[in-house]
Amino acid sequence: MKIYNTLTQKKEEFVPIEPGKVRMYVCGPTVYNFAHIGNARPAIVFDAFRMYLEYLGYQVNYVTNFTDVDDKIIKRANEEGVSSNEISERYIKEFLTDMEALNIKEASTHPRATQEIDGMIEMIDTLIKKGYAYEKNGTVYFKTRSFKEYGKLSKKKIDDLEAGARIAVSEEKEDPMDFVLWKPKKEGEPSWPSPWSDGRPGWHIECSVMSKKYLGEQIDIHAGGEDLVFPHHENEIAQSEAANGKEFARYWMHNAFLNIDNKKMSKSEGLLFTIREICEQYDPQVMRFFMLTSHYRSPLNFSKELMEAAKSSLTRIITAEGQL
Ligand code: AMP
Ligand code: ZN
Repeated sequence: MKIYNTLTQKKEEFVPIEPGKVRMYVCGPTVYNFAHIGNARPAIVFDAFRMYLEYLGYQVNYVTNFTDVDDKIIKRANEEGVSSNEISERYIKEFLTDMEALNIKEASTHPRATQEIDGMIEMIDTLIKKGYAYEKNGTVYFKTRSFKEYGKLSKKKIDDLEAGARIAVSEEKEDPMDFVLWKPKKEGEPSWPSPWSDGRPGWHIECSVMSKKYLGEQIDIHAGGEDLVFPHHENEIAQSEAANGKEFARYWMHNAFLNIDNKKMSKSEGLLFTIREICEQYDPQVMRFFMLTSHYRSPLNFSKELMEAAKSSLTRIITAEGQL
Protein backbone atom coordinates (compact mmCIF):
# COMPACT_ATOMS: atom_id res chain seq x y z
CA MET A 1 0.00 0.00 0.00
CA LYS A 2 1.25 3.45 -0.90
CA ILE A 3 0.50 6.67 0.97
CA TYR A 4 1.06 10.20 -0.32
CA ASN A 5 3.38 11.75 2.25
CA THR A 6 3.16 15.56 2.55
CA LEU A 7 6.68 15.53 4.01
CA THR A 8 8.34 13.99 0.95
CA GLN A 9 5.62 15.06 -1.51
CA LYS A 10 5.67 11.54 -2.91
CA LYS A 11 3.58 8.40 -2.77
CA GLU A 12 5.55 5.99 -0.60
CA GLU A 13 5.18 2.35 0.31
CA PHE A 14 3.72 2.15 3.80
CA VAL A 15 6.09 0.39 6.18
CA PRO A 16 5.05 0.61 9.85
CA ILE A 17 7.62 1.09 12.63
CA GLU A 18 6.41 -2.12 14.28
CA PRO A 19 5.20 -4.89 11.94
CA GLY A 20 1.42 -5.36 12.03
CA LYS A 21 0.81 -2.24 14.10
CA VAL A 22 -0.04 1.33 13.15
CA ARG A 23 0.33 4.34 15.44
CA MET A 24 -1.87 7.10 14.05
CA TYR A 25 -2.65 10.60 15.38
CA VAL A 26 -5.35 12.82 13.88
CA CYS A 27 -5.70 16.43 15.05
CA GLY A 28 -9.19 16.87 16.46
CA PRO A 29 -11.58 19.81 16.82
CA THR A 30 -11.55 22.89 19.00
CA VAL A 31 -14.77 22.42 20.94
CA TYR A 32 -16.56 25.78 21.14
CA ASN A 33 -19.60 25.10 18.97
CA PHE A 34 -21.36 22.35 17.00
CA ALA A 35 -18.89 20.89 14.49
CA HIS A 36 -19.39 22.03 10.90
CA ILE A 37 -19.46 19.83 7.82
CA GLY A 38 -15.84 20.80 7.03
CA ASN A 39 -14.78 19.17 10.29
CA ALA A 40 -16.64 16.03 9.21
CA ARG A 41 -14.30 15.57 6.25
CA PRO A 42 -11.09 14.61 8.14
CA ALA A 43 -13.17 12.67 10.67
CA ILE A 44 -14.75 10.56 7.89
CA VAL A 45 -11.80 10.14 5.51
CA PHE A 46 -9.33 9.14 8.22
CA ASP A 47 -11.89 6.82 9.78
CA ALA A 48 -12.37 5.15 6.39
CA PHE A 49 -8.58 4.89 6.06
CA ARG A 50 -8.32 3.37 9.53
CA MET A 51 -11.02 0.83 8.62
CA TYR A 52 -9.00 -0.10 5.54
CA LEU A 53 -5.84 -0.58 7.63
CA GLU A 54 -7.80 -2.80 10.00
CA TYR A 55 -9.24 -4.71 7.04
CA LEU A 56 -5.63 -5.33 5.90
CA GLY A 57 -4.99 -6.85 9.33
CA TYR A 58 -3.15 -4.01 11.06
CA GLN A 59 -3.79 -3.30 14.71
CA VAL A 60 -4.40 0.44 14.68
CA ASN A 61 -3.79 2.62 17.72
CA TYR A 62 -5.86 5.65 16.70
CA VAL A 63 -5.53 8.79 18.79
CA THR A 64 -7.48 11.98 18.15
CA ASN A 65 -7.59 14.90 20.57
CA PHE A 66 -10.01 17.55 21.74
CA THR A 67 -8.62 21.09 21.97
CA ASP A 68 -10.57 22.16 25.03
CA VAL A 69 -8.60 25.27 25.98
CA ASP A 70 -8.52 28.05 23.41
CA ASP A 71 -9.43 31.72 22.84
CA LYS A 72 -12.65 30.81 21.01
CA ILE A 73 -13.83 28.63 23.90
CA ILE A 74 -13.03 31.37 26.43
CA LYS A 75 -14.89 33.96 24.30
CA ARG A 76 -17.96 31.74 24.05
CA ALA A 77 -17.87 31.06 27.82
CA ASN A 78 -17.70 34.79 28.57
CA GLU A 79 -20.59 35.49 26.19
CA GLU A 80 -22.74 32.91 27.95
CA GLY A 81 -21.48 33.72 31.44
CA VAL A 82 -20.42 30.10 32.07
CA SER A 83 -17.05 28.39 32.57
CA SER A 84 -14.84 27.32 29.65
CA ASN A 85 -15.15 23.82 30.97
CA GLU A 86 -18.93 23.90 30.61
CA ILE A 87 -18.59 25.00 26.96
CA SER A 88 -16.02 22.35 26.06
CA GLU A 89 -17.85 19.55 27.89
CA ARG A 90 -21.07 20.47 26.07
CA TYR A 91 -19.51 20.47 22.61
CA ILE A 92 -17.39 17.36 23.19
CA LYS A 93 -20.67 15.57 23.94
CA GLU A 94 -22.29 17.00 20.80
CA PHE A 95 -19.25 16.09 18.68
CA LEU A 96 -19.31 12.49 19.91
CA THR A 97 -23.05 12.33 19.12
CA ASP A 98 -22.28 13.48 15.54
CA MET A 99 -19.43 10.98 15.19
CA GLU A 100 -21.67 8.13 16.29
CA ALA A 101 -24.36 9.17 13.81
CA LEU A 102 -21.73 9.18 11.04
CA ASN A 103 -20.71 5.65 12.01
CA ILE A 104 -17.19 6.72 12.95
CA LYS A 105 -15.36 4.21 15.09
CA GLU A 106 -14.39 5.51 18.51
CA ALA A 107 -10.76 6.48 18.88
CA SER A 108 -8.48 4.17 20.88
CA THR A 109 -7.81 7.24 23.03
CA HIS A 110 -9.54 10.62 22.84
CA PRO A 111 -7.37 12.85 25.07
CA ARG A 112 -8.26 16.40 26.12
CA ALA A 113 -5.65 19.14 26.29
CA THR A 114 -6.72 20.33 29.76
CA GLN A 115 -6.03 16.88 31.18
CA GLU A 116 -2.49 16.75 29.80
CA ILE A 117 -1.03 19.96 31.26
CA ASP A 118 1.66 18.13 33.30
CA GLY A 119 3.05 16.50 30.17
CA MET A 120 3.10 19.87 28.41
CA ILE A 121 5.01 21.52 31.28
CA GLU A 122 7.50 18.64 31.19
CA MET A 123 8.11 18.96 27.43
CA ILE A 124 8.42 22.76 27.62
CA ASP A 125 10.93 22.33 30.46
CA THR A 126 12.95 19.89 28.32
CA LEU A 127 12.92 22.36 25.42
CA ILE A 128 14.21 25.17 27.66
CA LYS A 129 16.94 22.90 29.10
CA LYS A 130 18.02 21.84 25.62
CA GLY A 131 18.23 25.47 24.46
CA TYR A 132 15.24 25.35 22.08
CA ALA A 133 13.00 27.62 24.16
CA TYR A 134 13.21 30.62 26.46
CA GLU A 135 11.06 32.43 29.00
CA LYS A 136 10.25 36.16 29.05
CA ASN A 137 8.01 37.54 31.80
CA GLY A 138 6.01 34.35 32.24
CA THR A 139 5.68 33.55 28.52
CA VAL A 140 7.71 30.70 27.03
CA TYR A 141 8.63 30.86 23.34
CA PHE A 142 10.02 28.21 21.02
CA LYS A 143 13.20 29.52 19.40
CA THR A 144 12.24 28.65 15.83
CA ARG A 145 15.66 29.27 14.28
CA SER A 146 17.25 26.81 16.70
CA PHE A 147 15.45 23.96 14.92
CA LYS A 148 17.49 23.65 11.76
CA GLU A 149 14.93 21.67 9.79
CA TYR A 150 12.10 24.18 10.36
CA GLY A 151 9.95 24.40 7.23
CA LYS A 152 10.58 20.84 6.02
CA LEU A 153 6.89 19.89 5.99
CA SER A 154 5.37 23.06 4.53
CA LYS A 155 8.42 23.71 2.28
CA LYS A 156 8.60 27.25 3.61
CA LYS A 157 11.89 29.04 4.13
CA ILE A 158 12.32 30.71 7.46
CA ASP A 159 13.87 33.83 5.87
CA ASP A 160 10.84 34.27 3.56
CA LEU A 161 8.49 33.81 6.50
CA GLU A 162 10.45 36.28 8.56
CA ALA A 163 10.20 38.95 5.85
CA GLY A 164 6.41 39.06 6.34
CA ALA A 165 6.40 38.67 10.10
CA ARG A 166 6.15 41.43 12.68
CA ILE A 167 6.46 41.38 16.43
CA ALA A 168 3.32 42.75 18.07
CA VAL A 169 3.97 45.48 20.63
CA SER A 170 2.70 43.24 23.43
CA GLU A 171 5.17 40.46 22.61
CA GLU A 172 8.72 40.06 23.87
CA LYS A 173 10.01 37.55 21.38
CA GLU A 174 13.67 37.43 20.42
CA ASP A 175 12.68 36.73 16.82
CA PRO A 176 9.36 37.25 14.96
CA MET A 177 9.25 33.55 14.01
CA ASP A 178 9.31 32.33 17.61
CA PHE A 179 6.00 30.88 18.75
CA VAL A 180 4.31 30.50 22.12
CA LEU A 181 4.60 27.33 24.20
CA TRP A 182 3.13 28.78 27.41
CA LYS A 183 1.41 32.08 28.17
CA PRO A 184 0.38 33.78 31.41
CA LYS A 185 -3.33 34.02 32.18
CA LYS A 186 -5.37 37.11 31.59
CA GLU A 187 -8.34 38.11 33.74
CA GLY A 188 -11.17 35.57 33.50
CA GLU A 189 -9.13 32.88 31.73
CA PRO A 190 -8.64 29.29 32.89
CA SER A 191 -5.11 28.72 34.16
CA TRP A 192 -2.73 26.17 35.61
CA PRO A 193 0.37 26.69 37.75
CA SER A 194 3.73 26.25 36.01
CA PRO A 195 7.37 27.13 36.74
CA TRP A 196 6.98 30.23 34.51
CA SER A 197 3.54 31.66 35.37
CA ASP A 198 -0.03 30.72 36.16
CA GLY A 199 -1.27 30.34 32.63
CA ARG A 200 -2.12 28.03 29.79
CA PRO A 201 -0.33 26.18 26.98
CA GLY A 202 -0.05 27.31 23.37
CA TRP A 203 -2.03 25.24 20.88
CA HIS A 204 0.81 23.35 19.14
CA ILE A 205 2.42 21.82 22.22
CA GLU A 206 -0.71 19.82 23.09
CA CYS A 207 -0.49 17.53 20.06
CA SER A 208 3.25 16.90 20.48
CA VAL A 209 2.59 15.86 24.08
CA MET A 210 -0.57 13.79 23.57
CA SER A 211 0.97 11.99 20.62
CA LYS A 212 4.05 11.10 22.66
CA LYS A 213 2.06 9.98 25.69
CA TYR A 214 -0.39 7.71 23.88
CA LEU A 215 1.64 6.58 20.86
CA GLY A 216 5.32 7.04 21.74
CA GLU A 217 8.08 9.36 20.56
CA GLN A 218 7.84 8.12 16.97
CA ILE A 219 4.59 7.48 15.18
CA ASP A 220 3.62 6.09 11.80
CA ILE A 221 0.96 8.52 10.57
CA HIS A 222 -0.01 12.04 11.56
CA ALA A 223 -3.08 13.49 9.85
CA GLY A 224 -5.46 16.43 9.64
CA GLY A 225 -6.86 19.05 7.29
CA GLU A 226 -4.47 20.82 4.90
CA ASP A 227 -4.81 24.11 6.80
CA LEU A 228 -2.87 22.45 9.62
CA VAL A 229 0.33 21.90 7.58
CA PHE A 230 1.49 25.38 8.50
CA PRO A 231 2.00 26.45 11.19
CA HIS A 232 0.44 23.75 13.38
CA HIS A 233 2.14 20.63 12.05
CA GLU A 234 5.38 22.42 11.23
CA ASN A 235 5.52 23.58 14.86
CA GLU A 236 4.62 20.14 16.18
CA ILE A 237 7.57 18.68 14.26
CA ALA A 238 9.93 21.33 15.65
CA GLN A 239 8.78 20.76 19.24
CA SER A 240 8.71 16.96 19.13
CA GLU A 241 11.95 16.45 17.22
CA ALA A 242 13.80 19.04 19.32
CA ALA A 243 12.55 17.51 22.59
CA ASN A 244 12.84 13.82 21.69
CA GLY A 245 15.85 13.95 19.37
CA LYS A 246 14.24 11.69 16.77
CA GLU A 247 11.95 11.82 13.76
CA PHE A 248 8.36 12.48 14.90
CA ALA A 249 5.99 11.05 12.28
CA ARG A 250 6.97 8.98 9.25
CA TYR A 251 3.94 9.77 7.03
CA TRP A 252 1.93 12.99 7.00
CA MET A 253 -1.56 12.89 5.45
CA HIS A 254 -3.70 15.97 4.80
CA ASN A 255 -7.24 16.20 3.45
CA ALA A 256 -8.19 19.05 1.12
CA PHE A 257 -10.96 21.44 2.09
CA LEU A 258 -14.68 21.14 1.75
CA ASN A 259 -16.29 24.19 0.16
CA ILE A 260 -19.95 25.19 -0.02
CA ASP A 261 -21.38 26.17 -3.42
CA ASN A 262 -17.77 26.45 -4.64
CA LYS A 263 -16.91 29.05 -2.02
CA LYS A 264 -14.83 28.90 1.13
CA MET A 265 -16.99 28.17 4.16
CA SER A 266 -17.82 31.35 6.01
CA LYS A 267 -20.18 31.87 8.90
CA SER A 268 -20.63 35.60 8.25
CA GLU A 269 -21.76 34.92 4.67
CA GLY A 270 -24.18 32.20 5.70
CA LEU A 271 -21.97 29.57 4.07
CA LEU A 272 -21.62 27.25 7.01
CA PHE A 273 -23.65 24.22 7.95
CA THR A 274 -23.27 22.11 11.04
CA ILE A 275 -23.12 18.33 10.80
CA ARG A 276 -26.23 18.28 12.98
CA GLU A 277 -28.38 20.40 10.67
CA ILE A 278 -27.42 18.40 7.56
CA CYS A 279 -28.09 15.14 9.41
CA GLU A 280 -31.59 16.42 10.15
CA GLN A 281 -32.19 16.71 6.39
CA TYR A 282 -30.37 13.56 5.25
CA ASP A 283 -29.53 10.18 6.68
CA PRO A 284 -26.01 10.59 8.19
CA GLN A 285 -24.85 7.74 5.97
CA VAL A 286 -25.55 9.96 2.94
CA MET A 287 -23.14 12.53 4.37
CA ARG A 288 -20.53 9.83 5.00
CA PHE A 289 -20.98 8.51 1.47
CA PHE A 290 -20.84 12.02 0.02
CA MET A 291 -17.51 12.74 1.77
CA LEU A 292 -16.06 9.60 0.22
CA THR A 293 -17.20 10.40 -3.34
CA SER A 294 -14.03 12.37 -4.07
CA HIS A 295 -10.36 11.73 -3.39
CA TYR A 296 -9.40 13.00 0.04
CA ARG A 297 -6.66 15.26 -1.36
CA SER A 298 -9.01 16.94 -3.88
CA PRO A 299 -11.22 19.86 -2.86
CA LEU A 300 -14.83 18.78 -2.40
CA ASN A 301 -17.81 20.95 -3.11
CA PHE A 302 -20.95 20.69 -1.01
CA SER A 303 -24.31 21.63 -2.47
CA LYS A 304 -27.90 20.46 -2.21
CA GLU A 305 -27.72 18.97 -5.73
CA LEU A 306 -24.58 16.97 -4.92
CA MET A 307 -26.12 15.68 -1.68
CA GLU A 308 -29.24 14.61 -3.62
CA ALA A 309 -26.99 12.81 -6.12
CA ALA A 310 -25.12 11.09 -3.24
CA LYS A 311 -28.46 10.07 -1.74
CA SER A 312 -29.60 8.43 -5.01
CA SER A 313 -26.28 6.63 -5.49
CA LEU A 314 -26.29 5.29 -1.95
CA THR A 315 -29.93 4.19 -2.28
CA ARG A 316 -29.04 2.32 -5.52
CA ILE A 317 -26.14 0.54 -3.78
CA ILE A 318 -28.27 -0.41 -0.77
CA THR A 319 -31.10 -1.63 -3.04
CA ALA A 320 -28.71 -3.67 -5.18
CA GLU A 321 -27.13 -5.20 -2.08
CA GLY A 322 -30.58 -6.19 -0.84
CA GLN A 323 -31.18 -8.09 -4.10
CA LEU A 324 -28.02 -10.19 -3.93
P1 AMP B 1 -10.56 22.91 13.88
O1 AMP B 1 -11.56 22.66 14.96
O2 AMP B 1 -10.80 24.18 13.12
O3 AMP B 1 -9.13 22.78 14.36
O4 AMP B 1 -10.74 21.77 12.78
C1 AMP B 1 -10.75 20.38 13.04
C2 AMP B 1 -10.34 19.64 11.79
O5 AMP B 1 -11.21 19.98 10.70
C3 AMP B 1 -8.92 19.98 11.30
O6 AMP B 1 -8.30 18.79 10.82
C4 AMP B 1 -9.17 20.96 10.17
O7 AMP B 1 -8.10 20.95 9.24
C5 AMP B 1 -10.43 20.38 9.56
N1 AMP B 1 -11.22 21.35 8.77
C6 AMP B 1 -11.68 22.56 9.17
N2 AMP B 1 -12.39 23.16 8.18
C7 AMP B 1 -12.40 22.30 7.13
C8 AMP B 1 -12.97 22.32 5.80
N3 AMP B 1 -13.70 23.34 5.37
N4 AMP B 1 -12.75 21.25 5.00
C9 AMP B 1 -12.03 20.19 5.42
N5 AMP B 1 -11.45 20.10 6.63
C10 AMP B 1 -11.64 21.14 7.50
ZN1 ZN C 1 -2.75 18.99 16.33
